[in-house]
Parts: sequence; structure tokens; C-alpha cells
Amino acid sequence: MEEIRFSCTRCGNCCTDNSTLVNLTYFDIIKIKNGLNLKVDEILEIVGFYIFDRKISQKDREQLVFTPIESERGLAYIGLRKNQSGECIFYSSKKKKCLIYNLRPILCQTFPLSFRILNESKDKFDQLLEIYYTRKGLDYCPGIDSNSPIIDYDYWKKLGKKTLEYLKRNTIIIEKWNKQVKAAKIIPSAKSFINIILKANEI
Ligand code: SF4
Ligand code: SF4
Repeated sequence: MEEIRFSCTRCGNCCTDNSTLVNLTYFDIIKIKNGLNLKVDEILEIVGFYIFDRKISQKDREQLVFTPIESERGLAYIGLRKNQSGECIFYSSKKKKCLIYNLRPILCQTFPLSFRILNESKDKFDQLLEIYYTRKGLDYCPGIDSNSPIIDYDYWKKLGKKTLEYLKRNTIIIEKWNKQVKAAKIIPSAKSFINIILKANEI
């Protein structure tokens, strides 16, 4: 396995890069909602549906880490909104830090690394979890450097397992939603999605 070296320099690139979208799982939305005590309309001010700018084939879909969601305007990602300069709305350029650090989405916790399971065998989960650099990480994260320390594999494997579990459960929710949209059983608006996940969280 490739040796993974990384240490965050707190440069803020991942929070300010214009082309980086912070995808959200429904857990992330609920965590931020509860942590900041937000109402539905306030959640909509920080969460948006970002429509794909190209047609997504079935093959593309299979390679995406986050399952796309059917929306009123087409297939979309759910992500944190950005300010006019393209920075995450929770990034303070003055303080040079995340304003919701303890509530930050799973994607922010794992950047610039990602995970995949090479083989589904449950018994050997630890050996089969691969940790790798994301493309964006390789593009602009100065923490990936041959002089950076080798990562703490135990910590990252634990985080990787949690992340993949969240993504799996998120996919189930999104696929259920997409089915209902296709059957014209729900209005595919962001508000309706937020209401559904909040309801699911109460059960
Ligand atoms: S781009 Fe890399 S080094 Fe910079 S803040 Fe993000 S994770 Fe840390
Ligand atoms: S939530 Fe925080 S860590 Fe994540 S992109 Fe926004 S400012 Fe950065």
C-alpha cells in the first residue's frame, strides 16, 4: 500500500476553493441543524441543491461517492452554500478558520483523503479498507507533502469506516427519495427533502 503522508497546515484552501463543493450527507445536515439550533428555513440558507452541469450516465453514477438526488431542476448534489467569493459560508477569512469546526461535515473531516473497500468480506474489514488522496487534495492541499508525517492509520481507518457507513446510509435515504420523486409521490424541493430527513431523525 502507498505510504500516506499528510498534516494540515490550516491554509484554508479546501474551505475557499471556488470549484470545491462540500457535499453533505443527511447526518451532516442534522448535526449542523441540532448544533446551531436551526429552523427549516434557516437550514435552507446554508444548504443548497447544486445541479449537475452535464448529463450523468449510469457508469458515472456508480463512480460517484455521493449519490445524486432528483430535484425540481434535475439531478443535483446537496452541498454547503458558498459566499460570493466562492468560499464556504462557514469559513471566516478574517479569523482564517471554520466557524463550525466541531460540527463540520464528514467530508471536511476526511479531506484530503478518501476511502474505499477493496473487498466486501466483513471479517477482514481493516485490511480491506484503502485510504487514498482525493484528486482535489492532490491539486491544492499543501498538507500532502513528502515532508509531512505518515498519517495515524488507526485514526484514519476508524474515520474511514464511519465515513463509509454514513455514505451507505445516506445512499439508502437518497435512493428512496429518488424512487418517490420518479413515482411523483413527493415534490422534489430542497425544503421537502429537509422536512423528510428531519422527520426520519425523530423516529
Ligand atoms: S487544503 Fe489541506 S492543508 Fe489546507 S486547510 Fe485544507 S486540509 Fe489543511
Ligand atoms: S464547514 Fe468548515 S471545514 Fe468545512 S468547508 Fe466550511 S469552513 Fe471549511
